[in-house]
Amino acid sequence: MRIACALAIFGIALMCGAAPARAVEPPDTILLGGRIVTLDARESVAEAIAIQGGRIAAVGTTREIEKLGGPKTEIIRLDGKIVLPGFIESHCHAVGVARDALAQTYVELSSIGEVQQWIRRRATEIPAGQWIEVPRNEITRFTERRFPTPAELDAACTTHPVLYTSVANKHVLNSLGFERAGVAAGVEKLGDGEVLRDGDGRPLLLRGGTAAIRAQIPVRAEPPRDDVLASLARLLATYNGVGITSIFERATDAVGLKHFDELRLAGKLTTRVTGTFRFSARNAEGVEKFVAGLGWKPGEGDEWIKAGPLKITVDGGIHWGTTRLSEPYGPRRIAFYRLTDPAYRGELYYPVEQMQEVFATAHRLGWQMSCHVTGDDGTARVLDALEAAAAAAPDVAKRRFTLIHSYFPDAAILRRCKALGVCVDTQGYLYYRDADTLADIYGQTWADRFIGLGDWVRGGIPVGLNADHMIGFDPDHAMNSFNPFLMLSIAVTRRTKSGHVHGPHQKLSRLDALRTVTQWPAYMSFDEKNLGSLEPGKLADLVVIDKDYLTCPDEQIATLKAVRTIVGGRTVWPPSGTTGKE
Ligand SMILES: [Zn+2]
Repeated sequence: MRIACALAIFGIALMCGAAPARAVEPPDTILLGGRIVTLDARESVAEAIAIQGGRIAAVGTTREIEKLGGPKTEIIRLDGKIVLPGFIESHCHAVGVARDALAQTYVELSSIGEVQQWIRRRATEIPAGQWIEVPRNEITRFTERRFPTPAELDAACTTHPVLYTSVANKHVLNSLGFERAGVAAGVEKLGDGEVLRDGDGRPLLLRGGTAAIRAQIPVRAEPPRDDVLASLARLLATYNGVGITSIFERATDAVGLKHFDELRLAGKLTTRVTGTFRFSARNAEGVEKFVAGLGWKPGEGDEWIKAGPLKITVDGGIHWGTTRLSEPYGPRRIAFYRLTDPAYRGELYYPVEQMQEVFATAHRLGWQMSCHVTGDDGTARVLDALEAAAAAAPDVAKRRFTLIHSYFPDAAILRRCKALGVCVDTQGYLYYRDADTLADIYGQTWADRFIGLGDWVRGGIPVGLNADHMIGFDPDHAMNSFNPFLMLSIAVTRRTKSGHVHGPHQKLSRLDALRTVTQWPAYMSFDEKNLGSLEPGKLADLVVIDKDYLTCPDEQIATLKAVRTIVGGRTVWPPSGTTGKE
C-alpha cells in the first residue's frame, strides 16, 4: 500500500490516495492533467485518477498516477478539465418517463398563450373529434397564475374536445369537451366531481370527477415491452449526457425494477438504480403483507440495482393546493386553487398514530422509510410519528428516514430532524419555477423558506437535491428539469427563472451544492462507502466537465456541460463511436 500524502500547491491540497493492495495490476484507465474535485474529507483537489476493475485505484498528481500505467492502460488526458463525482439523481420516475414518451412528446408550457399554441398545433396532427390532452403543466408555472378558462381553450380549438388537467383533480375543458363529458346546462355533478360555473351559468372548471372524464377518453394501449426498454435505455443515456451516474427510482415495485434488470442483461444499464417502494399500508399487518409480497429484502441487490426505502404519501403538494400547512389557506390561496373553505389547511392522508405504526413496523422488519410530505405541518406530523416510533426503538434514528419534498423547514423541524437522523430529498426546479408564484400567493416568508437548502445544510441534515423527474426527455425543460448543472446553479444563486432571489440565506457554497447531488444522496441510500466522492476503493463514477465549476461566474454554472461520463470505469457518455460535445 502506498502512503497517502498531502501537499499544497497553489494553495490547493493535492492528495495522493493509497492504492488498495489488489491494484498490483496496472490500472485499466488513468485520467491525467485535470482538476479532480474529490469531495474527500479534506476537500482535496487532485490532478489525476487511476481506475482498475471499475473502482478508483488511486488519486494523486499526474506524475504519480502516470507511473502506475501499464502497456494496456487507457490514458485520458484531461487538459486541465474538471472532474466531479458522478451525479446522483435522487428522485426520478424513469420507467414512467420512458413509457410516456412513447405516447406523446412532452412540451413545457409557461403561459396560457403557450397552452393555446400547443393545442392549435396538436389539432392539426390528429383527426377532428379526437380528444386533445394538454401535457401536464401546473398553474403555479403559468405567467397568468391561474387556470385557463373554457373560452380560452375554445379560442384555440373547437374541432376537438380539449382537456387541461391539474393533477389535483381539477379539469378545464373546452365547450366541446364539456359537451362530450355530459356537462349540459343545469348539470352540477359529474361522477364525484362538481361543476363550477361563472356568473352566467357557463361551466368554468370541474373539481373532481376524474374517473368520469377519463371514461370519455380512449385508454392508450400498453406499448410493447421492447419499446419501453429501448426508451428507458435512451433516457439513461440522456441522464449520462448531463453527468448522472446513479438514480433513485422513487416510486417503484418489483415489476418496475425488472426493467433495469433487463437492460443490464442486454448490456444497456448505464446508471446505477436504487428503488423506492411506494405503498399505502396503514397498520402493522398491512406493512407485513406488503413486504412479504414485495420480492425484495431490505438493502438487497448489488452496486447496480438495489432496494432502497419504503414510501408512503402523507400530504399533497403546492401545485394542487393540497400541501398540509401550519396555517389556514386563507382567501388568496383558496381563490388561486379554486377551493372553498378558507380555514382549509391542506390534506393529511395519514393520522399520526397510523404513521407511527407503519414506521415502527417497517423498522422492525429492517426497512428504511421515506415519506412524501410537502407542507410544514405535514412534516411536523411525520416527525411526531417518527419520534414516537423512536421512543420505543431508539435505533430508528439509524435508518436514515427520508423526508421527500418537505418544502418549508423551520427551526423546530430542523432540530427534530437532526435528533432523529432524518435526511431530506428536495427539488431544485420547483424552487426555480414555483417560488415567484409562492411569494405572490403564499407570501414572501413562505417563499423564503421554500426548498430551504441553506436551512437544511446549516441544520446538519443530509439533503439530496433532485428533479422529481416525471415527464419528458429534455434535461432543461422536462417536468421536472433533471439537468444537475441547473440544480447546482439554483442551489448556489437561489435565483428563480425570472431572476428573483427569495431568502438569500438559503444559498449554498459551491462544494455544499455539489454535495447535494453526490455525497449526501449517497449517504441517503447507505452508499457512502461506494459513491459520492472520488477516493481510492470507491466505484469509479465520475463526470468530466467543460469549465471550472468551482471558479466560473455564477451565471455559467447552469451552462456547464458534461464532456465525459464514466460509470464503473466505463465511459458511457459520449456513447462509443461519437466524439461528444468537446
Ligand atoms: Zn416523485
